Amino acid sequence: MGQRELPEHPSFLWHNPDPKPSYDVVIVGGGGHGLATAYYLAKNHGITNVAVLERGWLAGGNMARNTTIIRSNYLWDESAAIYEHSLKLWEGLEEDLGYDIFFSQRGVLNLAHTLQDVRDSVRRVEANRLNGVDAEWVTPEQVKELCPIINIGQDIRYPVMGGTYQPRAGIAKHDWVAWAYARRASELGVDLIQNCEVTGFTMDGDRVTGVRTNRGDIKAGRVALAAAGHTSTLTEMAGFRVPIQSHPLQALVSELHEIIHPTVVMSNHVHVYVSQAHKGELVMGAGVDTYNGYGQRGSFHVIEHQMSAAVELFPAFARAHLLRTWGGIVDVTLDASPIVGLTPVEGMYIDCGWGTGGFKAVPGAGFALAHTIAHDEPHDLNRPFALDRFVTGALIDEHGAAAVAH
Ligand SMILES: Cc1cc2nc3c(=O)[nH]c(=O)nc-3n(C[C@H](O)[C@H](O)[C@H](O)COP(=O)(O)OP(=O)(O)OC[C@H]3O[C@@H](n4cnc5c(N)ncnc54)[C@H](O)[C@@H]3O)c2cc1C
Repeated sequence: MGQRELPEHPSFLWHNPDPKPSYDVVIVGGGGHGLATAYYLAKNHGITNVAVLERGWLAGGNMARNTTIIRSNYLWDESAAIYEHSLKLWEGLEEDLGYDIFFSQRGVLNLAHTLQDVRDSVRRVEANRLNGVDAEWVTPEQVKELCPIINIGQDIRYPVMGGTYQPRAGIAKHDWVAWAYARRASELGVDLIQNCEVTGFTMDGDRVTGVRTNRGDIKAGRVALAAAGHTSTLTEMAGFRVPIQSHPLQALVSELHEIIHPTVVMSNHVHVYVSQAHKGELVMGAGVDTYNGYGQRGSFHVIEHQMSAAVELFPAFARAHLLRTWGGIVDVTLDASPIVGLTPVEGMYIDCGWGTGGFKAVPGAGFALAHTIAHDEPHDLNRPFALDRFVTGALIDEHGAAAVAH
């Protein structure tokens, strides 16, 4: 922890080409998922005639708006498999990408505040262990040892009754992760094209043949959608619907402090998740705003409610000054699990529905989606997360483990 040197300015890290008339694969969305997919397409499958089209600037969406929590302690086998695969990729990512991403395995605590929370959490710890995911149940006293500034008194609205702890979990520096993927993808021949908005698709019967953009039509052998909260607007252009709702999700940071918060703490009940960034800001996220929308900001009352409970849990925060707040648009599914795989349109693939928790999945989802595009067939990791589970009913309900916001 502590301050470190800034890297080279991002505009020198990748090329900024004009779009070519045609690509083997076009990826819509230059967030973490789109960039990682492009990288693994090139690295693992040798497919380099690829463009990532981003309507704004790389990582201007949720990728650099999230609170960067990385963990794999989800309940069901299918989720544990993909999130744990992702965590393993995180563990080798700095070396793989040759770039500092400040991946810090400082552990993540998920607090329990009710008897039902305790039962659910203990069940999840057992399930995690069966799946080879490191997980522990910790008492309030152990919580206090891991995070000394936390209030474990009984006189607060949500007393701490214990928690789950994943030691290998942690945080990373989100914009640097995007730059690292962008740099390597660009070196491998991928075109990263900013200010290029996809406005429609060209089709030949049921097959996609290209994208329409504000910079002209681009032909594509295959098209992948990795547009997070804006996915449903794209699928509507392609003629099918996805069961996701787009909600604002907010976060905030304090001014810089000495290191006082050594781990990551999440609480479903208090509706807050907190870590301390490498520079020293306290980084906190809230729950989603209940309305749907695409404006990248949330309501003040949501963050106010969350902060009042957070201050009870962390009394020291009462002295911290707020530096800034912001919002992103998250794509929430009804089972709180993602959608990664084929679509009803031939040659079109989808990666969305990660809701409030898709940063941790960037390497894993990129790896799985790249395989799916290369083979026109899902990888075993994403097979259960197919779009048709909303028809078959084979849902993967992760509301408990998806944590605070959905
Ligand atoms: C406040 C907040 C806190 C969060 N905290 C965490 C956390 O602690 N841990 C965690 O794991 N996850 C967290 N998340 C969720 C995580 O950020 C997202 O699930 C994940 O970033 C989504 O994938 P992405 O990075 O590729 O999306 P984005 O970065 O949103 O990328 C999608 C891109 O698509 C582009 N796009 C959209 N439409 C078009 C179009 N028509 N043409 C071209 N481009 C288009 C957008 O501009 C955008 O850049 C949080 C999210 C928010 C908002």
